[in-house]
Amino acid sequence: MSPEFINTLGVWLEVAVTVMGAMVFALWAGTVVWTINDIRARSWDVLAMILAAVLVILVPFAGLVVYILVRPRETLADTYNRALEEEALLREANVSFFCTGCSRPVRDTWVFCPHCQVQLLQACPACGHAVRPEWTVCAQCGTARGVQPAQQYPQAEAGAEPWDQASDARSASAEQVPGR
Ligand SMILES: [Zn+2]
Ligand SMILES: [Zn+2]
Repeated sequence: MSPEFINTLGVWLEVAVTVMGAMVFALWAGTVVWTINDIRARSWDVLAMILAAVLVILVPFAGLVVYILVRPRETLADTYNRALEEEALLREANVSFFCTGCSRPVRDTWVFCPHCQVQLLQACPACGHAVRPEWTVCAQCGTARGVQPAQQYPQAEAGAEPWDQASDARSASAEQVPGR
């Protein structure tokens, strides 16, 4: 081998190593940028962002694998969408008032609270329809129930206005409601 050939080979090797090094560096920088973007989409936690960045910077490539294994499963957008979906499901499930015993949302057709066993509905003594304990008259037949209107049913009060007005009109003729 001539010295000239060895010289040329050396130059080419140097170029090849430089190009390879630049590619590896670009790839590493890419994983760092990707990781920082990814953790920002998954967490508000500044500490988690710093830890993720330090991990992929100090431990090239293997750090990325570790990050993917331990990162939060859901993105913040996923979490938000799931919360919206759950809320919509809750609305569709006829959750119209809250248990007097444990304050959890319950369906308006449930007779007993499945969480704390409080009785949510009673039978009207006159017509047998289900009535809620806080109603002063039966919503079906208007029979006065002589039960104290009470307790907190936050959503039911807003949603039940037509019933309240109807029952007010009925009981006004029957037994004089104060304030009408
Ligand atoms: Zn309950
Ligand atoms: Zn009734």
